This record gives sequence, C-alpha cells and structure tokens, in this order.
Amino acid sequence: MNNENVLEVENLKKYYPIETGIIKSKTSYLKAVDGVSFAVKKGETLGIIGESGCGKSTVAKLLMGLEKPTSGSIKFKGTDILSLDKTQMKKFRKSMQMVFQDPYSSLDPKKTAGYIIQEPLFIHNVGTKAQREARVKELLKMVGLDYYHANRYPHEFSGGQRQRINIARAIALNPEIVICDEPVSALDVSIQAQVINLLKKLQQELGLTYIFISHDLSVVKYLSDRLAIMYLGEIVETGDSKSIYSNPIHPYTKALFSAIPPESPLEEKEKIILEGDVPSPMAPPAGCKFHTRCPYTQQICQESKPLLRATKNGQKVACHLSEQLA
Ligand code: ADP
Ligand code: MG
Repeated sequence: MNNENVLEVENLKKYYPIETGIIKSKTSYLKAVDGVSFAVKKGETLGIIGESGCGKSTVAKLLMGLEKPTSGSIKFKGTDILSLDKTQMKKFRKSMQMVFQDPYSSLDPKKTAGYIIQEPLFIHNVGTKAQREARVKELLKMVGLDYYHANRYPHEFSGGQRQRINIARAIALNPEIVICDEPVSALDVSIQAQVINLLKKLQQELGLTYIFISHDLSVVKYLSDRLAIMYLGEIVETGDSKSIYSNPIHPYTKALFSAIPPESPLEEKEKIILEGDVPSPMAPPAGCKFHTRCPYTQQICQESKPLLRATKNGQKVACHLSEQLA
C-alpha cells in the first residue's frame, strides 16, 4: 500500500445476471465493470470519463458499498472495505460521500433544505440540536447559500442551488472522499461552471479527494489531476491529465478528445468520428473490446485482449498499437 493513496481499487468486477431465453432458464451476464484498477491520492481529483453505459456509475456504487462487486478489492487507507462488518461499514460511510447527477430526484421533496443537510448528522448521531443547527448554517454559507434557505423546500430552488444543497449534505460529516457522479450534467452550461468552481473551492479549503465522473471531457478538464478513460467496463487509458490532454494515445481517447471544440479558432483539429454503436456489454467483442470501432484495428486486436501497460509518456494504455500511437 502506497501511503499517499487513500483509495486503491484492484481488478474490480460487477457482472449483473440477466435471464435470457423464453423459459428464462439461461443466465448470461452483463459485464458492467470488467476488471478495473486504479488508485487515488489524498487531495487529488481522479476524473473518470466514458460514454453513457460504460460502467462509471456502477464503479461509484461499488465504491460507496451500494452494490456488491462480483470480485476484486477496494481498499480505503489500506483497509479492505468489503470485509467490514455493519458497524465498521457505518463508520467508513462517513469518510466517503456522493453527489448524484440529478439534483432534484436526489432530494426528498417533503423535507426542507435544512433537514436534508442535517440528515447525515442525525443518522450518525453527531452533535446536539444546537450544534447541528450551527453546522447547517456553516454548511449553507460554505456552498454559497443563505441561512434563510434552510426552511425552504427543494422545489423552491433552482437546479444549481439544489446541487449546492446536495454538496452541503455530502460534506456535512467531513468526508475524505467525495464521489461526484455527473454532478453538473443536468445543469445549464453557465451554472455548470459555478458548481465546478464551488467544488474546486471546497477541495482547497477542506483538502477533499474527489472522484469526478462525467461523459463530458470539457467538464472534467477543469478539475482532474488524473484521468481514467473507460470503455465497456474497462479502463483503456489512465494517467496524468496534462499528459493525456496533450497526447492521448488510445484510439478511443483520441476520438473523445478530438470531439472537444478547439480552444482557439485558429487551432486545427481533426475530428475522429467513431463508426458504429457501442457494442452490448452482454456480448462484448472478443480481443480488444474497442476493435469493432477502432480506425487502426489489426488482426491481433480481434484475437487477444490488450492489457494496460505503461508507455514512455507516463500514462498507461490498453492497446496493442500503443507504441506506434504514442
Ligand atoms: P454509466 O454510468 O457509465 O452510464 P452504468 O454504470 O450506469 O453506466 O451502467 C453500465 C452498464 O450496466 C449498462 O449497460 C447498464 O445498463 C448496466 N446496469 C447498470 N445497473 C444495472 C443493474 N442493476 N442491472 C442490470 N444491468 C445494469
Ligand atoms: Mg452514470
């Protein structure tokens, strides 16, 4: 265990059994997460990117203990969280919190903002009534809301404000890690920047570690120290954000990055259009799962599965052609 890592994930898999056939006797598996490994250092942001359905939210649910993995390990500060009993799990939950995509459905419409933010404190029996109220006041201020907002109901807030309430709730117990699963995807672009700036500010003030999940690279760009790019349940490229942004190597990463609008109108950018749809995770292609859409595909890509390997640029890439493409 590297001391700097707060979280270490090793070969994590989540296969959902799916009943098929008329008499539902045959079970096949949907490989939502198919052997994912990564580590997160204290205070950094790991961005997880990939198209819808590639397994990002399933990774988040596994980390939060909301789903049980098929196999693999998740270590928080060296302790395997999958081996924790109920009491230990409850304690661990305080350290890891989540902000969800839809700021509306994740808030109980019948509860006031003040109650919603305080709820984790009730659940974990933290503080007296007066202390909890003082904490709510403090949290509202931290996320840029006013104290009078405490008595309002979710429908009385805008989308951006609702996400601020979710963030206040997520940090109420002083967690170490906050998993943000598409936290701004449901918001207008102008509001997205405000919420991202808030997350950045809180990270600096509180020394938070983030796992920031998004299908939108331009959103992740402003926050991530490191990136993991997922395709059909697997990480195809990972490393320092800067090196991946300046030199994406995996053909899938290249295609994703080519779709971001150039920063200057003078910058020439070739847009790589991927052909075909994402294959079904119930019947992923053999060999490299990306070979059916890859513009560089060769015989070997259909036959053998490439492993994540370090490249000379520092990032790790799962591609047979990584040396030529680097
Ligand atoms: P993402 O967040 O990247 O869009 P998800 O992790 O939500 O992707 O889903 C990954 C794959 O797993 C998808 O094909 C999805 O349909 C499937 N999936 C997610 N949850 C379940 C479940 N409870 N039962 C069966 N399949 C699921
Ligand atoms: Mg998702």
